[in-house]
Amino acid sequence: MAHADVLIAGGGPAGSSLAFALARAGVRVRVADRARFPRPKPCAEYLSPEASRILADMGALELIEQTGAAALTGIHVRAPNGKVIRGDFIASHGFRGFRDRGLSVRRETLDAILLDRARAAGAQVSEETRVTDVVRGNNGRVIGVHTLVNGERGEIRAPIVIGADGLRSVIAKRLGLAQTQRWPRRLALVTHYANVRDVGEHGEMHVERDGYVGIADVGNGLTTVALVVPASRSRELSADRAAFLHQWLLSKPHLATRFAAAERATPVVATGPFASHARRAWSPGAALVGDAADFFDPFTGEGIYSALRGGELLASTVLDALASASERSRNEAFIEYDRVRKKEFGGKWIVEKAIGAVVGAAPLINRAAKSLSARKDLADLLIGVTGDFVPAREVIRLGYLWSVFGPSNSQPSE
Ligand SMILES: Cc1cc2nc3c(=O)[nH]c(=O)nc-3n(C[C@H](O)[C@H](O)[C@H](O)COP(=O)(O)OP(=O)(O)OC[C@H]3O[C@@H](n4cnc5c(N)ncnc54)[C@H](O)[C@@H]3O)c2cc1C
Repeated sequence: MAHADVLIAGGGPAGSSLAFALARAGVRVRVADRARFPRPKPCAEYLSPEASRILADMGALELIEQTGAAALTGIHVRAPNGKVIRGDFIASHGFRGFRDRGLSVRRETLDAILLDRARAAGAQVSEETRVTDVVRGNNGRVIGVHTLVNGERGEIRAPIVIGADGLRSVIAKRLGLAQTQRWPRRLALVTHYANVRDVGEHGEMHVERDGYVGIADVGNGLTTVALVVPASRSRELSADRAAFLHQWLLSKPHLATRFAAAERATPVVATGPFASHARRAWSPGAALVGDAADFFDPFTGEGIYSALRGGELLASTVLDALASASERSRNEAFIEYDRVRKKEFGGKWIVEKAIGAVVGAAPLINRAAKSLSARKDLADLLIGVTGDFVPAREVIRLGYLWSVFGPSNSQPSE
């Protein structure tokens, strides 16, 4: 039986960010991940300009850029009616991120660097260590986790356990905190292609009536391609993922020409359905962070930033909890964590839900694209919100929504 002050299940961006911050503060922290790094992770691999602030703080930004990661100057969103919303990170609204560009980098590369930074700060990392359940004390409080390593069962004891184990978090399930949302239910297929034509400095989202695809230069001659379709297509998709994805791309004339000579460079990985949101992000002795707590719709490209930022926020809660003399004050620290999360992410959750709904309804995305393609100032604001440096309130104002969806913009768009 091994011991630590804090046991973190999961060494993705959330777990690494938290482990880094705690280890830097002198806490004995242990990360257990079921994978051996570097490992792939289905993702469109875009990092918002503000994510670079946390990467820089972790000493990871330069290392990531040295691997040949691509810089993105904004995002283009093409609606089913062919209208394109063009948003740039440098814009007239005056808000500026930590950097004026986003990053696009393979998750294999990114996550391994982040975990290494946590290790360098002093975190103990156990790879190929699957967490299977929580261990509870007599009063029901979480006091550790059960593990499986090479088929052997074990236990790691720690006064604080963190679930940073992603979308299908075992910790969230065992604590009864996981809540799968019924809608939208979507699946994703993700891969990399070489020789895609006309991939520029913008990330691209192409919304079609039967799904959407994210396309971006991910450096080193590769283009990341992440297709998201309704979960109702799971049977067709499981027969031959690669063929399904390629056919989907070729069935869209504006993409078919660009993918005509493209060659797939990595296996197609599938994931989903992925709408989930924990009721609350803690239980006595344990807390959740990153996707384990809330999953952001891939369309917004905010998951990695939120995981990194969540790690930062949770670190100060954990330090307070470790310094607390009583069970009650420990719990109060976690109640405060829930409050801080809502303050930090509440606006984003609203924007994310709204975008998820608009993207799933062709008339709505067509109408939004019609307005936003004619009003670059509004498009820049929206892209800035998803870039994590423009406050969400800028686009959840009535005036903004009226400009995008109001009657003057409501002529039929297809
Ligand atoms: C199709 C798709 C596209 C996306 N595109 C983007 C994008 O472009 N930009 C963006 O910012 N976000 C994107 N996201 C979201 C982003 O991938 C996640 O929000 C982000 O990875 C969350 O980080 P995390 O650390 O919480 O979880 P993860 O990155 O999932 O890490 C969880 C870790 O826990 C480990 N683990 C899981 N179970 C166990 C267990 N039982 N025991 C031990 N270890 C375990 C896993 O091996 C993994 O290393 C996308 C998501 C999807 C599905």
